[in-house]
Order: sequence, then C-alpha cells, then structure tokens
Amino acid sequence: MEVCYQLPVLPLDRPVPKHVLSRRGAISFSSSSSLFGGPDPRQLSQRRGAISYDSSDQTALYIRMLGDVRVRSRLGFEPERRGSHPYLYIDFRILHSRPESAGPLSARKVRRLLSFQRYLHSSRFFRGAPPQNPLYILDDDYTGQAKCMLEKVGSWNFDIFLFDRLTNGNSLVSLTFHLFNQYGLIDLFQLDMVKLRRFLVMVQEDYHSQNPYHNAVHAADVTQAMHCYLKEPKLSKSLTSWDILLGLLAAATHDLDHPGVNQPFLIKTNHYLAALYKNTSVLENHHWRSAVGLLRESGLFAHLPVEDRLKMESQLGSLILATDISRQNDYLAQFRTHLDKGDLCLGNAGHRHFILQMALKCADICNPCRPWRLSKQWSEKVTEEFFHQGDIEKKYKLDVSPLCDSQTDTVENIQIGFMTYVAEPLFVEWGRFSDTRLSQTMLGYLGLNKASWRGKLQEQTSSGDDTDPALEETDSEVLPQEYRCS
Ligand SMILES: [Zn+2]
Repeated sequence: MEVCYQLPVLPLDRPVPKHVLSRRGAISFSSSSSLFGGPDPRQLSQRRGAISYDSSDQTALYIRMLGDVRVRSRLGFEPERRGSHPYLYIDFRILHSRPESAGPLSARKVRRLLSFQRYLHSSRFFRGAPPQNPLYILDDDYTGQAKCMLEKVGSWNFDIFLFDRLTNGNSLVSLTFHLFNQYGLIDLFQLDMVKLRRFLVMVQEDYHSQNPYHNAVHAADVTQAMHCYLKEPKLSKSLTSWDILLGLLAAATHDLDHPGVNQPFLIKTNHYLAALYKNTSVLENHHWRSAVGLLRESGLFAHLPVEDRLKMESQLGSLILATDISRQNDYLAQFRTHLDKGDLCLGNAGHRHFILQMALKCADICNPCRPWRLSKQWSEKVTEEFFHQGDIEKKYKLDVSPLCDSQTDTVENIQIGFMTYVAEPLFVEWGRFSDTRLSQTMLGYLGLNKASWRGKLQEQTSSGDDTDPALEETDSEVLPQEYRCS
C-alpha cells in the first residue's frame, strides 16, 4: 500500500531556534558566504565571536595535493600587503556560480537559516510541486528504472551519474535510504523513517551542487563504494550493525558543505574556518562538525542514550578525518605494518574501526578504479574544480595551487600522478587485506585507466591535437543492459 505523508503547513515567520542559528553561523560555508561579499572587516571579527584570531601569528601548513606534505612559513604574506588585499573579501558565492543558481540573496539567506523550512521549500524533491499537493516522500520519488538500478547497488560498475539523473538529482538520498533499509538499520536502531529522510535531504542539500566534483553525487558514489566494501567477506562477517551504520553515515557526510576549494586556498584567503581549526584538516573538521549539526538538528538518534549519540559523533569524526589526503602516508604505513605482522583482528573494535577508516579512504578515492566510462567523467570533473580554483587564484593574484593551473596542468598528467602516487599504493594494500575478486577488478581498472590516460598523452604529444574522437565516449540516457529489470 502506498503511504502518503502530508506535511503540516508551517508559518513562514516561525522564529528560528537559537541552536540552528548558532550552528549555521558557526560552521556553514553557505550561510557564512555572504560575509565575503561585505566590505566591513568588523563583521568578520564579530562573526568569529569568541575565537581568538590573529592571522599574523598563524603558521600555515602548505599541503600539496597528492599527499606531499610540506610546511612553509607564512612570512611570505606581508601584513601590509594583506591589509590592502582583497583576499578577505573574496565572495565565496562566485565559486562555480551559475546564472540559474544566483537567485535573490535575501531569499537564499532565509532558506539557509530555516532548517525545516529549507527542507520544505528548497529541496529538489519539492521543486515544481505545488505546495498544496500531498507529498509522497517514502518511495514515489523513484522511477521504475532507478528502482531497477538499486537491485544492482552492490555492483562495482554501478553508474551513479545515470542513477542521479533517474532520481532527478536525488541520488544521495535515494541510495543511502535504500542501503539503510537493506541493511535493516531502520528496524535495528528503531529509526524514524521521516526523520531519516529529512536528515538525508538536509545532507544532500548541504552539498554544493555548483561544485563540479565535491557535490552530492560524489558523496553518493562514495557511499555506494563503501557498500561494496562492507559486503566483502572479511568485513561482512565481522562488522556489527553499529559499524555499518557508522560507515554509511560517514560516507554520505564525508565532504558535507565542501566549498569547492582546498585547504591551502582557505588558509591563504584567511577564511575563518582555517583559523577555527588551526590550519589542520580544516575541511574534514568542517565536514564532520556539519554532519554532527545535522544529526542533532534532525533528531535522528534522539531516542538513543546520550552516551551512544556522543560515541557516534566522535567515531564519525575519526572516520571523516581519515579522509584528509595529507595524512594518507600515516594511514598507509599503519596499514602496511598491520598487514606485515598479520595482527589485524576484526573481533577487536579498534581494529574494525581502523578497517572502516581504510575502507572510507578507498571509497573516497576509488574513481580511478571504476570502469573507464565512469572514471573518465570523475577525472574531468575534479580537474574542472581544480582549474576553477586556479582561475580565482589568478584573478586575485594569489599563488596558483599545484594542479590548479589550466595553462600548465592537464587532466592526463593530474590523473597519472594521482593514480601512481595516491591511489595505487592504497589499493595495493587494500588488495593484500581483502584479496577478493573486487580488489582484483579495482586494480585491473586502475591499470587500464592509467594506460588510457598515458595513451591520450602520447597521442597529444605526437599529433599536437588535444582531442581524440576514438577515446571519447558519449553519455547515454539508455539504461545499460546490466541494470534492466528481468
Ligand atoms: Zn570526498
């Protein structure tokens, strides 16, 4: 039977709860973005409130991509130059801005501040639906084809781009809700389905759809990959429901409210989050705190004992912080040591947590291990985001970050470097830990994709042409055979 929930009509002038305002004010890029449009520095210091902030004392961590960590003094930034420089006033709304997303600022502000109102008014679920209509929020948003795809949600070839189109841009909500249901987490943890749905919609909404790469589709892709790893024999026979709940939550929220620029950019533009988190894992700390904010706001676990909720929040942080690519070598060394000693015991909760960290790290950077038609799209998207950052850096006469210069860097070089120095070492160790068909498949695709990028590079250098029609693939709206209902 079809279940239909009619949401109550809420007064538009409902006062905003204090905890919502403080959460939004303190940590959300989206709500704080208007600060960067204003010329008054006092606004900034007021907004920072009790946080002691003296940028001249800060020593910046200059973290290169590809896991190459270097420390560089901030002495290069002369205070007088900074004083007259437009860094502080970079309007984060200009990042990846598109005409259709511009909208009147006042309306957007209101939307960001009213959490439940935002859910009601801004969710893509409800766009175009007259408000007086009943809202079918349990499963009527799936098309038949999307449902068919979910039957193969554990396939490594799962096409998240197609799934996102079939769900009208709701891949993260649809996929995560489905997995929660499939793992029996809703029953086991006695989750309120409306609260769960509301939480997931808020998570999806707090990803920036303007980001070419760090958006909700990436989060959905990471969640799907996490599901594939959770099903691997070594994990599935030892993980508890708590571990699975945590793993899926971490995957879905691990890049929450990502601004589409990296940590060095936030540091050199004196973004308040860089000061708040002392230039260390700035983005990851923000993703984690944003996730905690939404968990509390939604009340998803409000029925659980407080100690369980706090444990959940803390472990969520430990998983999300592990995705900081600048700490890759620490995790990899630890992983290797365990594998060399053969001392990983998944009966041990600490060891299981470590494996969840490694699984999330793999899921986060598994793009090069997907089939070419998917992998290639991710590569182009991440390069677009890097180059956009580089363009802004050039515009404001900042040093262009590594890999962000569209004049000298290329998608081929970026990918070959990333695969060689970041992805391959991680997936080789993962394959030692979980020596399965999936691990072999991932390493196989990694090798093939790297060869494809190398081939493209060679053709460019030999012909001077930067396009190769033979290697170009067109997106198809046709559901691939593997997803068709039998
Ligand atoms: Zn990510």
